[in-house]
Amino acid sequence: MLYELRTRTAVVVGALAIALAASTLLRGRPRRVHLLFSFFSATLGLWYLTQSFYGFFQSLIWQRTTALLAVLLPVLAIGLFESMVPRDSASKGWVFRTALLLSVPLLGIQLTPLWDNSLVRTGVFVYVFFFITAGLYELGQRGAGSPSRTTKRRVRILVVIGALAGLATILDFLWILGVRTPPVGAVLSVVFVFALSQALESERLLDLSELLGRLMVAAAVAFLIAFIFYVLLTYLGGFNTMYLNAVLAATVVLVLYEPLQARVEEQIRRLFFRERFDLEGALADVRRKLVHTLDVGEMASMVMEALESSRRVTEAGLFLRDQEGTGFDQIGALGEGVPARIELATSRKLLEGLELGSILLEHVERDIKEHATRGERFASGDAIMSAAEVLGSLKNGALVAIRDGGRDVVALMALADRRVTDAISHDEIGLVEQLATQVGVVIENSRSYQQMKERDRLALLGQMSAGLAHEIRNPLGAIKGAAQLLADPGPGATEDPVAREFIGIILEEVERLNRVVGSVLDLARPGDLSVVPVDVNAVVRRTLQVLSTERRADDVEVQSMLANDLPRVAIDPEQLRQVLINLVRNALQAVGTRGKVTLSTRVRFGRGTRSGKSETESFVELTVADTGPGISRSTLEKLFLPFFTTKEKGTGLGLAISQRIVQGAGGRIEVRSHEGKGSTFSVVLPAAPEGLSTPTPGPTRALPVEGAATPNPAD
Ligand code: ADP
Repeated sequence: MLYELRTRTAVVVGALAIALAASTLLRGRPRRVHLLFSFFSATLGLWYLTQSFYGFFQSLIWQRTTALLAVLLPVLAIGLFESMVPRDSASKGWVFRTALLLSVPLLGIQLTPLWDNSLVRTGVFVYVFFFITAGLYELGQRGAGSPSRTTKRRVRILVVIGALAGLATILDFLWILGVRTPPVGAVLSVVFVFALSQALESERLLDLSELLGRLMVAAAVAFLIAFIFYVLLTYLGGFNTMYLNAVLAATVVLVLYEPLQARVEEQIRRLFFRERFDLEGALADVRRKLVHTLDVGEMASMVMEALESSRRVTEAGLFLRDQEGTGFDQIGALGEGVPARIELATSRKLLEGLELGSILLEHVERDIKEHATRGERFASGDAIMSAAEVLGSLKNGALVAIRDGGRDVVALMALADRRVTDAISHDEIGLVEQLATQVGVVIENSRSYQQMKERDRLALLGQMSAGLAHEIRNPLGAIKGAAQLLADPGPGATEDPVAREFIGIILEEVERLNRVVGSVLDLARPGDLSVVPVDVNAVVRRTLQVLSTERRADDVEVQSMLANDLPRVAIDPEQLRQVLINLVRNALQAVGTRGKVTLSTRVRFGRGTRSGKSETESFVELTVADTGPGISRSTLEKLFLPFFTTKEKGTGLGLAISQRIVQGAGGRIEVRSHEGKGSTFSVVLPAAPEGLSTPTPGPTRALPVEGAATPNPAD
């Protein structure tokens, strides 16, 4: 009885495996991996069929063919596994090569009378099972090493089904030893082949629940069709009596097949796999999780994972607007062909389209076609479609804008499913938009968090400076006292004019140092300033005089080109000197032992907002240019960050303080640099208003300085 069951099962399983092989080939444009699958599946099918033929006819030729086919199986299986989840290097693994090598003599033996030798048979048995197991093991290894968690999970499922099928098939062979077991191995083998075929069809590996769903759909459709066939034949007459009726019945079944399949599939999804298949479920889940993240990168991978697990998307990309606002950089991607960056210049039409809401590119394309059938042109649609080329493999999908609180587009999200048309419906795009809102919140929160961290850093800097100020100010007091004593040697002493000049410099520098220490404090804790109309040229001359006392290499030339009739600027002169000294010192350090540093001033006109509305105003530009090595792009970005330095003994504070001072006076520092040629730092300050002749703070002051309204000139 069991023997009978075995033979019949083998027929069914064999036929199914061959049908699966054929259906993969029929799907059109089979690639290498599809061909490999078909070979494997067909060979497996024939293997089962020849077993059943032996069962029916008891002729040894079938047993011999079975053995021949068995020898082919490992090489085909391993070849298929290798092309499903390829290894990093192009070459095949040792398992494949050894299996191929051994298959040749084993095939040869099958053609000799030796094939029936029990030793040879055992050898073939061991060969087949060992190499298929090794191939599966390698597949599992490659799956585990895959960067995609989903691939990992799905390969694991394939390997488990494959291993179970293999084990059950070994048990099936126990009948040789007289053990009677039901033919579970054959059934599991065909399930495995089905799993493989499905994995190939959707170009990705399925998980168990989806696989079960599909199997259930197939079985349900088969039963329904059999039922219809049965009903038609009973009412219209059997095969024997009315052949034409059978043809009619078959036609009805074929016509009904597709809608029936769709219906059954939908019902089964609804009944069993609602949550798992639902886009809504996956998106709601990730939205809940996003609440807990502040990291944009982590957010991007969570979103991509959710989209992948929804199984509704084959390609997706998340693009974050860069700081300059010239384009969007990819921060998360799913599938192949997602662009690394979207330039603003080429995607402007898409952004304009997004102003009206999310874009379903497939719909736009359809609208274009509809217009065309009416002989019209849909110009804005055409513009959107040609701009959509920048989206790469996402160009037929849905595009959603991600905005911050100020409604500015800070990121873009695009998703597509190339397996189906109308992958995302109008209703569903609402779900994606909800996710986009949340992503916008995460991006904004993450930026606020970064700013907070920066503020914390500055607060720490403030505390450190306060400590440092104490440490420096006390010895400075002593130095100043001693220098003053030297400056006034008392009656009767001979005066040395050179010594006197140097003592003057000491006193002046001590004074300046005192204020610099104070300025560092101002970075975090605003203090009193004496903002007066300042002649920038005078500050330049004085600074050059002070700097001229510093030791410098002979081959370094310091030049100044000062414009006449320069308007005054409202700033604390001591602070401006500090800025200038910082810039000139940096320039001198950049040129090293040979080069030129040029200081220049000029009037510049530009748009300002002093009166509250935009109008042309005059500015004073103070430029320090050097012929040093220039500044690299990466350094340029961090130039003004406190404590950023590339020098061994640098503090990284000079430019940070300078920028704070200049911005406090309503101005800005501009940097231009050519690597290998030199750098130019320009301090651009608004000219002080005409009436500002007394030492009072100018209206241009933007620095939130306490006590600024009551300047203390004695400071
Ligand atoms: P520090 O001089 O103590 O390093 P700064 O804030 O003044 O601190 O400068 C920060 C960094 O900017 C320097 O370490 C240097 O790498 C770069 N830099 C500033 N000015 C120049 C310049 N003129 N040429 C080249 N690099 C410069």
